[in-house]
Amino acid sequence: MSTHQTATDQRQAVADTLQSLVDRNLTRGTSGNVSMRSADGMLITPTGMAPDQLLPEHIVAMSLAGQVADDQLTPSSEWQMHADVYREKTEVAAIVHCHSPYATILACAGRPIPPLHYMVAAADSYGIPLADYAIFGSKQLSRCNLEALSGSKACLLANHGQLATGKNLQEALKLADLVEELAHCYWGTLCIGGPQLLDNTQMEAVQQAFITYGQQKPS
Ligand SMILES: [Zn+2]
Repeated sequence: MSTHQTATDQRQAVADTLQSLVDRNLTRGTSGNVSMRSADGMLITPTGMAPDQLLPEHIVAMSLAGQVADDQLTPSSEWQMHADVYREKTEVAAIVHCHSPYATILACAGRPIPPLHYMVAAADSYGIPLADYAIFGSKQLSRCNLEALSGSKACLLANHGQLATGKNLQEALKLADLVEELAHCYWGTLCIGGPQLLDNTQMEAVQQAFITYGQQKPS
């Protein structure tokens, strides 16, 4: 995110990212939400608004403690989950949460994504973990999400969907897209007898290769 972006540009970028989730078939209706870190907290999409109706002024500026000025819309019901990630993971500056179809199928089947494809390493882990179930919008869901993210930049949320983080909105969006692609791939392999997994040595080699060939990483 450019440091020259105005507050309106940043709000527009958050709104555009939510619309991108729709354009990429990663979300439908009002179930997805997007945020970015700001100087005094975060900017997050409001609850219950269709992505194609979103204007910069609809994006909610709030503190990480949950304070919202009177003249703003109500933030996403998942604001706590976003705020806690920014508090705990200082390297994260953007978050995308959605109920993308294949990631949600796996999340509902209780299946984290194993290292079946080398691009799993793009999440800085050897698999996409599955956060334990807790009801949407709860502090408990936020805790479960943080625990799953302790060793990964993205996770599945049991019986719910997925969440991806990044250093900026583009990176978080790209990772959410990748998680969905990997979920689709895993689902496909389960239909024909299951995947042939990469081992730790092979995954370590991929991570080393990503460091050498940085442009292959989704950043
Ligand atoms: Zn959700």
